[in-house]
Parts: sequence; structure tokens; C-alpha cells
Amino acid sequence: MPEITAPESLGFSTRAIRVGQEFDPTTGAIIPPVYLTSTFVQDGIGGFRGGYEYARGGNPTRDSLQELLASLEGGSHAYSFASGLAAEDTLLRAVLQPGDNIVMGNDVYGGTHRLVNRVFVPWGVGLSTVDMSDLDAVRDAVAASKTAILWIETPSNPLMKISDIAALAEIGHANGALVVVDNTFASPYLQQPIALGADVIVHSTTKYLGGHSDVLGGAVIVNDLELAEKVGFLQFAVGAVSGPLDAWLTVRGIKTLAVRMDRHSANAQEIAEGLVGHPALDAVYYPGLPDHPGHDIAARQMSAFGGMLSVALTGGAVAARKFAESTELFQLAESLGGVESLIGYPTEMTHASVRGTELEVPDNVIRLSVGIEDVDDLLADVLRALDQV
Ligand SMILES: *Cc1c(COP(=O)(O)O)cnc(C)c1O
Repeated sequence: MPEITAPESLGFSTRAIRVGQEFDPTTGAIIPPVYLTSTFVQDGIGGFRGGYEYARGGNPTRDSLQELLASLEGGSHAYSFASGLAAEDTLLRAVLQPGDNIVMGNDVYGGTHRLVNRVFVPWGVGLSTVDMSDLDAVRDAVAASKTAILWIETPSNPLMKISDIAALAEIGHANGALVVVDNTFASPYLQQPIALGADVIVHSTTKYLGGHSDVLGGAVIVNDLELAEKVGFLQFAVGAVSGPLDAWLTVRGIKTLAVRMDRHSANAQEIAEGLVGHPALDAVYYPGLPDHPGHDIAARQMSAFGGMLSVALTGGAVAARKFAESTELFQLAESLGGVESLIGYPTEMTHASVRGTELEVPDNVIRLSVGIEDVDDLLADVLRALDQV
């Protein structure tokens, strides 16, 4: 058998490259084939090879991604989906019933807020939003109603607020809530929420896990058999699965996650430090800066501070727009987490869906997804654009 022994004893990067990636036993191809197939031939009725029957229920390429994600996040099971929001939707359906409440940060990803507020609330689910860095406020919000889910996203988007996963998990569990962490911004290389006490992890694998801006995807990772069965059933019964080519591209991206995250973090740190005190800026939001309000917690629960940072421009919305349209290496686009640097204007792009709500982002804030290009080039690009505002 080509399988490696005791994968759980191996380091992160070794697992990222080997778990679920056994070479093809018939040809020796070191990279497992992409199983572009919708169905599987049976050896007599019900005679399945390897348990495979129909690709919505299971496909070997998707299985290899799921096995890899479960290993990297320290969970028992992982399920992959066509997008991050499809993953979230499946988890929410598996857990929530009418009358249940969900408590989430007042700065969660706009699409997560929209999914709960526009799809689940009309079906009878309650939603409370709260400042997740204020533990007393979270305790009150969780206790005020029948809270089924405490939803944590850290670092948050776009103001890079840090929440204390271990402390919040304790509050959630004391009230019988399932503690979910959206680990998209940190990735499992920088932050391990299950080890910190969370029950479930969700990802937009579109971002750092895929890492090359070439594929959409999402995942749910759990560490409990009963919940795993519910999510697995809905993955099959609802069917928002990742296709084999998408799963394969995501696996391919994950192999370099550790080296990419090291470079993303180093580049973002250097750019953040290079921008502190710039006369065109009111603030630089990056958890790696020592005066960031979440710096100490981030230093404790993350192994580095990641590749995302935001800035607030002194010149307001006009200056912010000009800045976002003046960089050359930082390309103006939604999304984040790819090897190429991106710049975005949250209030009109990623966070347009939360304008007019308490999640609204100030109109002088610009978000940078710092890529893995040469940092001198990136910093020069940002400084050149700031000169023009
Ligand atoms: C992008 C994103 C999502 C949604 O994922 P999609 O793949 O776009 O559906 C969820 N959470 C966070 C933090 C994200 O950045």
C-alpha cells in the first residue's frame, strides 16, 4: 500500500504535501489523477469499488482534499463545497432550527451576514451581532436567547480585529452553543481553532488555501461524529459539492500553504511598518503592529499575523478612492489570499451588502491583500500611490 504511516505524527508541511495524496497504484503516477467522472461502474448491483457510486455522494479527488483539510485543521472530518458560502449554508442548515439564535461579530464577512440575515432570519432564526472583542457583551448576547451557534471570525475583515478564540469558546460552551470559527484569513498554518477549543471550522478555500486566485471553494471541518454525519448527509442531499477539478486545484495550492503564508506575513509586516505615521493615513490596521489592540491575543493564538492589512486615509472617501485606483502592482479587485497583491475599497466592493447596517465599513478605509511578490516593489507601489492622493 502506498499510504504513509502515522500521518498525525508528521509536521504541518509534510502533511500538507502527503496526506490524502497517495500515488496512483496502477501507474505509479506520483500525482493522483483528477477523477473527472460523474458515476462509477458497479461489479454487479451494489458492488461498489472503494465505496464510490455517484459523484455527488463521493469522488476520490474530493475525498483527497477532505482528508487533507481534516488533517491540517486537526478535525475528524472535512467536507468540501463549491464555495465558502455553500459550506456555511450547509453547516447552518445542519445545526439551526426555527427559534434558534446565532450570535456573530458585528464585523463578520459581509456575505456571511447576508446569508444569515436574508436567508435564515426569514426562516425563523434569530441573529444578534456583537463586538467579539468585548467578552462581557458576548456573554450577555449568548445568554439572552437560545443561542445555538457562536460564530467567530478572526482576524476580521477589513479592520483586522482580533477575537480571543479560547475565551469565546468557553463562553459559548457554558451556554450550550456550538462554537464556529471562520478561519479563512489566518488559514490552518497560522491558527488552529479546534486546538483552541472551537467545535467547527469553516473556510473559503477560494482565499489562502487555494492561494492562486484560480478556483472557488469552501469547507466545513468538524471534530464530532454526530455533526459530521449531519453535514455529510446535507452535502449529499443538497449537493453544493466541489467539482473534481476545483478540488484538485485546491489540493495543489495547499501544498505550498506554509511557505506562502510565511512570505505573506513577512511582506505585510514590512508594509504595515513602512506605512505607520504616513501623513496621508489616519490609521494602519495590522495585528502584527505592537499597538494594535488585538496584538497580544494574536501573538498568543496565531503563529504569524497574516497577509491582510487595512489603512484609513486622512483625506476621506475621495483620497481612499484615488489611492485604490492608483496602485499598479496591487490590482483593484475583490477577494484576497492569492499570490498576487490586491487592493480593494470595502464599502463599495466586498462590504457593499452591509452598507446601512451596523457592519458598515468607514468610507475612508482601503484593504490590501499583500501577495508574495518582492516586498520592496510592493511598498514602493503603495507609497507612490499615496503620494497621488
Ligand atoms: C470570501 C469569504 C467567505 C465566502 O467565501 P466564498 O468562497 O466567496 O463563497 C467567507 N468568509 C470569509 C472570511 C471570506 O473572506
